[in-house]
Amino acid sequence: MSVGTARTILLKVDDDLCHACRKCLAGEACRGSAFRRFDREDAPFIDTSRCWGCLDCIAECPFDAVVRHEHK
Ligand code: SF4
Ligand code: SF4
Repeated sequence: MSVGTARTILLKVDDDLCHACRKCLAGEACRGSAFRRFDREDAPFIDTSRCWGCLDCIAECPFDAVVRHEHK
């Protein structure tokens, strides 16, 4: 069975745009708890294994730091 042609939406937090807000609104909007931080001062990152692509987080980030890129 081939799964190579499936398109998957992947998201990431762009470190250049992220302000590492104390309260990450994008992360709070994520019902999958996919936003992770190693340290409170760091920009969050997205655990893509927990993300199902609802895109709620994109709308909630005030700095447009959550960006999408598609893989074939
Ligand atoms: S992803 Fe957006 S809301 Fe979250 S810390 Fe970065 S800039 Fe703030
Ligand atoms: S797309 Fe949905 S599930 Fe994935 S990180 Fe954003 S809010 Fe969470």
